[in-house]
Amino acid sequence: MNDTLTVEGLDFEIRRSSRRKTLGLTVGRASELIVHAPEVTATGELERWVRRKLLWVHRKLALKRESAPRETPPEFVSGQVIHFLGRSYRLKVKTAQNEPLVYAGDEFHLSRSHEADAESLFQAWFTHEGTDWLARRVAYWAPRVGATPKRIVVGNLGFRWGSCSKGGRLNFNWRVLQLPVGLADYVLVHEMIHLRERHHGPAFWEMFGRAMPDYKQRQERLRLRAGDFLVFDMVKPAA
Ligand SMILES: [Zn+2]
Repeated sequence: MNDTLTVEGLDFEIRRSSRRKTLGLTVGRASELIVHAPEVTATGELERWVRRKLLWVHRKLALKRESAPRETPPEFVSGQVIHFLGRSYRLKVKTAQNEPLVYAGDEFHLSRSHEADAESLFQAWFTHEGTDWLARRVAYWAPRVGATPKRIVVGNLGFRWGSCSKGGRLNFNWRVLQLPVGLADYVLVHEMIHLRERHHGPAFWEMFGRAMPDYKQRQERLRLRAGDFLVFDMVKPAA
């Protein structure tokens, strides 16, 4: 697993190589940020270097957003990038495969005869693999927020990332599991604060700032990047 580095709310994947002599930075197809670095470069040096590149990164990301189609339905074709908890996986559509969907290390294999069910197959896989992770993340944030939900339910919430039901139940869209960890955390903490404060008034945002000081940057990134995931009907942050 590669290291990651978070600088001013942006997550960078660090790929080290013994053959590399210089630092490099690329913005991937899905706006993922990758730093190519020699094996020996210290993390502090990497971070200082990345900070000097932030303006360039923001320009690149803005260009990507302008050229990105927003309203096209998800396509389950070979080569499609599938995001799961901050990692990118390639999709391959397989003709000779009995199981509908197979997770194969750094790829997902979808059987051609199940193409039409792809979205529900991914929803089932993500929900099965990711629900425990969400519960652990919620447990991590609980003392920081000062609230613990009675129950967590992961399902299809359409265009909403999450919601908070009366009685202390939190509902999360399975698509949250496609987000980078820092943005999934934004959604979790947002809904957890609703356990204490139902409305988006000053008290809500004050609690948010105490629990997660950089929540505004995360909120903005979530808004900008929503279109990168398999949810083209969902462009607003958690309500
Ligand atoms: Zn809300």
